[in-house]
Amino acid sequence: MQTAEIRRRWLQFFGDRGHTVVPSASLVSDDPSLLFTVAGMVPFIPYLTGLIPAPYPRATSVQKCIRTNDIDEVGKTPRHGTFFQMNGNFSFGDYFKEQAIQYAWEFLTNAESDGGLGFSADDLWVTVYEEDDEAIAFWKRHSSLPDDRIQKLGKDTNYWSTGQPGPAGPCSEIFFDRGPEYGVDGGPATDDDRYVEIWNLVFMQYQIADVRSKYDFEITGELPNKNIDTGMGLERVAFIKQGVDNMYEIDQVRPVLDKAAEVSGRRYGAVHEDDVRMRVIADHVRSALMLITDGVQPSNEGRGYILRRLLRRTVRAMRLLGVEGATFPQLFPASRDAMRDAYPEVGEQYDRIARIAYAEEETFLRTLAQGTTILDVAVDRAKQDGRPAIGGDTAFLLHDTFGFPIDLTMEMAEEAGVHVDRSAFETLMSEQRSRAKADAKSKKTALADLSVYSAFRAAGETVFLGYDALQAESRVL
Ligand code: ATP
Ligand code: MG
Ligand code: MG
Ligand code: MG
Repeated sequence: MQTAEIRRRWLQFFGDRGHTVVPSASLVSDDPSLLFTVAGMVPFIPYLTGLIPAPYPRATSVQKCIRTNDIDEVGKTPRHGTFFQMNGNFSFGDYFKEQAIQYAWEFLTNAESDGGLGFSADDLWVTVYEEDDEAIAFWKRHSSLPDDRIQKLGKDTNYWSTGQPGPAGPCSEIFFDRGPEYGVDGGPATDDDRYVEIWNLVFMQYQIADVRSKYDFEITGELPNKNIDTGMGLERVAFIKQGVDNMYEIDQVRPVLDKAAEVSGRRYGAVHEDDVRMRVIADHVRSALMLITDGVQPSNEGRGYILRRLLRRTVRAMRLLGVEGATFPQLFPASRDAMRDAYPEVGEQYDRIARIAYAEEETFLRTLAQGTTILDVAVDRAKQDGRPAIGGDTAFLLHDTFGFPIDLTMEMAEEAGVHVDRSAFETLMSEQRSRAKADAKSKKTALADLSVYSAFRAAGETVFLGYDALQAESRVL
């Protein structure tokens, strides 16, 4: 089943059940405390918190998301993309827990000929918050799951809160069992490689106060308007339905992976390290394509820096596959062609997208070799001196003069067997920021874009934390 078909079925199913179909918002979130849209619920935050009355009682969407906090998992787990799409159904004080559970079960297990996904109940597990007896009862009532495939878990995995006084509530998550060849028995609590999380149902139910931490607070009462917020990973369902091993091999991503293999002359499936690199390339190219489409440009700050990291990590991964020259003119069109049906703007704006992406590759290729030499020298010296890390000054020089994102430097250093003095690097970075600020002030220039980014920084952790990822995302700067 193609990704587009799963998406279509989703919107049809919830549309048929009274949900207003809302188009995906931009990856660049309206919420100034967030770098990117990290979950389907982000565009609905004002309705979920009650800040603005919802214009509809129930809604559904397929939302483009970016989660940079998952970047280190990409290519290594089967299920983490920096870009992915989250299918969501939402109720704003309308239906609640029982109906949400019933919908989820129906959509997953209804026959394909009946508009569902046709999952076998035998392959599914759910987790519930250990004290949420209602959820357990509703799963028993509406699903055919045996009792031992409804696992009770604690607050750390199955509770949602913002970490602040306000709404909170238990979650129930749905997992697909890939079978014994992928890991040990025992359900989602024991193995997240075998049991792949596909769908999270959040029941916003309580008012909390006395918040000591995200999972330590007092429940002071029931919310007058209880909300439903769910998120199903489109790519995760797609890789399962397409019978492939991971989300980088689905129809929307695989063509880039194949192109990386073709250009490098290496075969996917031959050497594990190369496979990871090809998956990283396929992921990052798609994420960069979608970010540029939504107006992000490479830069050294904020959103642009994330994009730069994705692009430069791609260049480096291609070099590790043995390719020296420019490859974006081959990789990006493959991603465009795989994504343009779902997002026509990717095709319509491709000239602009290509200009930005290809120029970034050219720039980085010019400095990569030089920077690599500098890093090699620093690594050798550290090893000779018996130091476990290269200095923050080298990392800063590589960042500032050669455009090496810090995680790239760290990755390259780790590969050579040493660490990077990260805190010295951060000190140099913040000194540079202060200098730039002082400079800007003395020139009395109004740097509109920079002030936007410092507002992100100032916002720090006081954001609405919909999912764990929101928190990590807000810390990116
Ligand atoms: P995981 O535990 O696998 O990292 P999560 O608990 O962080 O997932 P949620 O925040 O609950 O994910 O998001 C809702 C759904 O979105 C998940 O059940 C999953 O299907 C999907 N999802 C989350 N992160 C990613 C990602 N990086 N790539 C692809 N799909 C994702
Ligand atoms: Mg999870
Ligand atoms: Mg989850
Ligand atoms: Mg996660």
